[in-house]
Amino acid sequence: MPYVTIPAISRENLLNSAERRWRAIGDDRPDLLPALALQRGLLTLVIDLAAVLDRGRLPKLSLPPKYLAAKLTRGVPVLAGEPMPLPVPVLTPTLLKLCDALADGGAGDAARHIREAIESGNIEPGSLLTASLTRNQAALRTGASHRGLSPDLVWLVAELAVSPFVHALERLLLEQAASDELRSALDAWTHGYCPACGSWPAVAEVVGGHRTLRCSFCSSAWEPPADACIYCGESGESFVTAAPDDERRDRRVEVCSSCGGYLKTVDVAELSPFPLLSISDIETTDLDVAAMQHGYRRPALKDFTTRKG
Ligand SMILES: [Zn+2]
Ligand SMILES: [Zn+2]
Repeated sequence: MPYVTIPAISRENLLNSAERRWRAIGDDRPDLLPALALQRGLLTLVIDLAAVLDRGRLPKLSLPPKYLAAKLTRGVPVLAGEPMPLPVPVLTPTLLKLCDALADGGAGDAARHIREAIESGNIEPGSLLTASLTRNQAALRTGASHRGLSPDLVWLVAELAVSPFVHALERLLLEQAASDELRSALDAWTHGYCPACGSWPAVAEVVGGHRTLRCSFCSSAWEPPADACIYCGESGESFVTAAPDDERRDRRVEVCSSCGGYLKTVDVAELSPFPLLSISDIETTDLDVAAMQHGYRRPALKDFTTRKG
């Protein structure tokens, strides 16, 4: 079953589970405490926003399962190129609070300036959030640079603010509305990018030997064949899985010298529910460092549109 459904859990259980994981990581890696404190602030805002969206109504999308199945069969993620009405007034307060949390957590004025730009109307929140939702990184980064803002931070706050919405869409379209036809198209999905939104995975979580890719944006979970590079399909000698720390064989990195890509894989007791995947990501930042020191990188987002620039 390559596409994996993760049961929804209550806000309280999510927060408790996150807290347990943060404490365990902090005990083990005191150097990560400031990063964990910032992540606690950011993810709490994301969890609260997800709870608000849960109580509201998602947009009605006329995307029949048969149409989505045909897209998937062509290798196109279901949300790519679809107009999706964003609940901008619901997301904007969280967007501003995320800037505050980042400012207090170490980003300082770089994050405060983003908040000011949104509040003054210099950045229009609807276009910012839409650029993130449609994965239009080029437009978003250019817009940020033109305003003298940090492109990385603007991308981050927009992504965090939109993530509960895109996660809800992913569940709506792929989990709850799954017809047999859609289900088999999903189960035939062997690409390394997300079948819902097209983003690359943040990490692969391995449970009971099943290597499951976890989307860095919408948190979807899918299991392509494990013996090949998720970016280029290389399965020969150029594709290697290694554990940089011999004492921690539960944390590995897959590297591919054909395309230069890398993927972190980590053994976990269970797949992280949205948005706790970021905890697996932050817990393995040393793997990113090790891979990048050897010249590997995560590829740019794939573009499924015909947009220019
Ligand atoms: Zn996704
Ligand atoms: Zn590759």
